[in-house]
Amino acid sequence: MSIPLRGARALVVGMRKSGMASAELLVRQGALVRATDLKPLEALPEAGALLERLSIPFEQQTAAVFEGCDLIVLSPDVPADLAPLEEARGRGVLVIGEVELAAGFLKGRTIGITGSNGKTTTTSLTGHILREAGVAVQVGGNIGTPVTAMVDSSREDGWNVLELSSFQLETIREFRAHIALALNVTQNHLDRHHTFANYAAAKGRLFETQQAGDFAVLNADDPVCVTYAARTRGTVEWFSGSRKVTPGASLCGDKLVLDGKLLMEAGEIPIRGRHNIENVLAASIAAARAGVERGAIAAAVRTFHAVEHRLEFVRQADGIDFYNDSKATSVDATLKAVDAFAGGLWVILGGKDKGLDYTLLREPLAAKARAALLIGAAAGKIAAALQGAVPLVETGTLAGAVDYAYRHGHAGDTVLLAPACASFDQFTSYEHRGEVFKSLVRQLGEGERK
Ligand code: ADP
Repeated sequence: MSIPLRGARALVVGMRKSGMASAELLVRQGALVRATDLKPLEALPEAGALLERLSIPFEQQTAAVFEGCDLIVLSPDVPADLAPLEEARGRGVLVIGEVELAAGFLKGRTIGITGSNGKTTTTSLTGHILREAGVAVQVGGNIGTPVTAMVDSSREDGWNVLELSSFQLETIREFRAHIALALNVTQNHLDRHHTFANYAAAKGRLFETQQAGDFAVLNADDPVCVTYAARTRGTVEWFSGSRKVTPGASLCGDKLVLDGKLLMEAGEIPIRGRHNIENVLAASIAAARAGVERGAIAAAVRTFHAVEHRLEFVRQADGIDFYNDSKATSVDATLKAVDAFAGGLWVILGGKDKGLDYTLLREPLAAKARAALLIGAAAGKIAAALQGAVPLVETGTLAGAVDYAYRHGHAGDTVLLAPACASFDQFTSYEHRGEVFKSLVRQLGEGERK
């Protein structure tokens, strides 16, 4: 941290989870803290209680709020290029994010995991491997606990495994990952970063703050990840789902190989899909560089359960498997989900349209699906895109879709919620949609259908 916090006039921008955790840390470090948010305080009940307890003044966000401070701490959802922030920088004010604020206080070593897709799965899996191997570990960042709220529970002899988004990384200066991992970089968040180059550069910050002796774990098959090799002072470690890399982790035929030795068979991985093999390779090489033995890594992978709402197995009823992939909110994610099964699929599609091209689903659904069950606002648009490729049933609601698939499915079939759409037409979030699906599936009787 370039300025001492005691007595510093600090402004925290964005009063959700990470803003609240930042404010708490700043108060404890003796800063004079103020808080702001685009919303009025009445709309932020949790923050209201915390600010009152810590006697932190709040003012709804205007340009004037950004005046009179030495330090500004941004929550991840606040764009770092707002005009008043640029002006503040011009006055010499330090503008950092929540992760950077935590950097100076976090004890132990850190594994930082970024990428456009697979962050949550790989972060959870890496934490699971370390935990199962008996290593002291805590998991957080973009999932669960903000990094500033992990400071107190961090240990000199422990590891912090952090999921990090481009928004969190674009403002880091001294935050350092002893092991930094990039899974893939594909078009995303252009509304916020403006260009793909900016987005890739924000993620690349994770590698620029590394030091000699650190490790950079990179996807050898991703052109942007490959460019990060030139940005790190650490040792580069590759993983590949398509070719042999030594040292490193790769898929050779149906075997996962770690540093030239057999790790496990692909068929032993309990999470489905080719993309998850890449996530396992990435987590395995990171865990190996954190000191976990090969045998312990393989054993832990075998006991890993899918993260909730990500190709999550719910149950079998009358021989029909039900999978919840509510997080598949894009056509691309739905394609990955369908790819993870051999056939016999009843795929539930629909929700709030995001303007994506559903015709990409025609071929895989024609090959693998018994029917597409359409729900929500996008049903008509999806029907038009898939007409003739696969039988279509407009069931309207999730309840209707589950009921239809259960009544018409055969033993050995799979009902897959992978809707390729946002959830906000009928649900409050993808988590809510997944919960409703699971509850409907759990209510199904056994041997009671038709
Ligand atoms: P994130 O936290 O980056 O959103 P998740 O682990 O929640 O990632 O996975 C979200 C979706 O991204 C999954 O449902 C899957 O469709 C896709 N995905 C997961 N891992 C990968 C990967 N390694 N490559 C490409 N897509 C992936």
